[in-house]
Amino acid sequence: MLKFIDIMRFPGQFSKRETLIPNINIELAQVEDSPDKLSLGSISTSSTQYAQKIEVDKIKGKLELQSPIKVQCSCQSFQYEFAGPLLKVDGLLEREYFEYAIRMHKPKKKNPNQVLGVCKHLVRFSRLIWSRKTLPNYGLVQNVMLQRNFMMLSQQISMNKFNPRDPYQRMDRQELLRKQREQKRLAALIK
Ligand SMILES: [Zn+2]
Repeated sequence: MLKFIDIMRFPGQFSKRETLIPNINIELAQVEDSPDKLSLGSISTSSTQYAQKIEVDKIKGKLELQSPIKVQCSCQSFQYEFAGPLLKVDGLLEREYFEYAIRMHKPKKKNPNQVLGVCKHLVRFSRLIWSRKTLPNYGLVQNVMLQRNFMMLSQQISMNKFNPRDPYQRMDRQELLRKQREQKRLAALIK
C-alpha cells in the first residue's frame, strides 16, 4: 500500500532531484472531495505541461500522512522509472494504461533497484496539497483554461502510445521496423 507520506520526498537514490523542486510550478486543476475519498488533479506548467492525479482514501474523513493513495503523472520519468514499482504496491491509478510502458520499456533499466517513489511533479504536488489542506477546496483557483488543459493532458495517458489495446502502439519501434522490412521483402517477391 502506498501512503501519502511516501510521495512527499524522493527515495535516497533519487535525492539529488530535490534541487529541481523549486523550479516546478504546479497548479491545482481539479478537486473532488467526499467524506471518504479525495481526488485531486494538477498540471505542471513549466516548459512542458504534464498532468498529475492523486486519489486519497481519507482516514476518519481527513487527509492524513498515512492515508492510502494512488497516483499518476503523464511525464516520462513516471512511466519509465516509477510506474513499475508503484504497480507492485497497488499505488498506480489507471494501471491498464501503464502496463505496456512497464513491460516494454523496462523500468528496471531506469530504476534498477525498483525503488518505490514518484516523479518530481508528484513530490511537488503532494507538498502543495499538504500545505493547503486546511483551505476550502485546497485553495483551488477556479480557472477554466487550467481545467481544460488538465482534462486534455490526463486523457493523453489513456490515448497515447501506451494504450495496450492498440496493436500498432503495442509494438516496439524495432519490431515495427522489422515488420516494415518484411512487408517490403514480400511485396518484392510478389512482383
Ligand atoms: Zn511527473
